[in-house]
Amino acid sequence: MNTMEKFCSSASQLEVIRSKSAFICDMDGVIYHGNRILPGAIEFITWLQKSNKRYLFLTNSSERSAYELHLKMKRLGITIDPSHFYTSALATAGFLATQVPQGTAYVIGEAGLINALYDAGYSMNDVNPDYVVVGESKTYSFETVTKAVSLVRKGARLIGTNPDTSGPSEEGLIPATGSLILPIAKTAGVEPYFIGKPNPVMMRQALKRLETKREETAIIGDRMDTDIVSGIEAGIDTVLVLSGVSDVDTPKVFAYRPSLVLDSVGTISEGLNELMEDK
Ligand SMILES: [Mg+2]
Repeated sequence: MNTMEKFCSSASQLEVIRSKSAFICDMDGVIYHGNRILPGAIEFITWLQKSNKRYLFLTNSSERSAYELHLKMKRLGITIDPSHFYTSALATAGFLATQVPQGTAYVIGEAGLINALYDAGYSMNDVNPDYVVVGESKTYSFETVTKAVSLVRKGARLIGTNPDTSGPSEEGLIPATGSLILPIAKTAGVEPYFIGKPNPVMMRQALKRLETKREETAIIGDRMDTDIVSGIEAGIDTVLVLSGVSDVDTPKVFAYRPSLVLDSVGTISEGLNELMEDK
């Protein structure tokens, strides 16, 4: 393909993405970096809201509830209803409720995870639960790990909300679910099952929540190995943005490619908010 053809095909691909009725959008590296909003993000979200798109903001972290994410975005300068956030905790609760309705769980995790399970009809049980569920946790201890091991050995299934091994914090890198679950899995001699990205279960759950078809939906993310692969495996058009961990060379080392690569989400809405105001 020559340069002109490449330009035309990505310009028409941008139109395809703009015409989607629903968007599933990763947050860290796409909307914000830690506590800093990224250029173009507010304009993009404003465009989603003004043009009545359906949208969900996705995070693999299971620590915060949708309401806490709503408050975080408010601090960063934009109001988004809590119903537009989807965490690996919500995906885990939704998935477990389809596997064992009204089940029981022993949880190592924070309020975001425990509340999601309660809302999905689960109750807490530290004697003979159906599942041991592990998420990001600040109350992780030798006692909780030992308890989890004994419950898994008695037959509880071991679930991780997300496979990430580390996450960002004010103090630097901290262990995330993928690392926290390992002592339990190794000691009990089992393989955990992870729900968050790149498991396409997370994307299918998100589609269900959006009440949209995959053909009408686009996924936006900054990681090839989580956001883009789970979009591809769920059969959804994907947009890689270069505002996070990826640069223009990153897609070259993967066997799959996104539908479109953009500098930032701002490119999707560029010039469109002004057009709406003129009408
Ligand atoms: Mg990201």
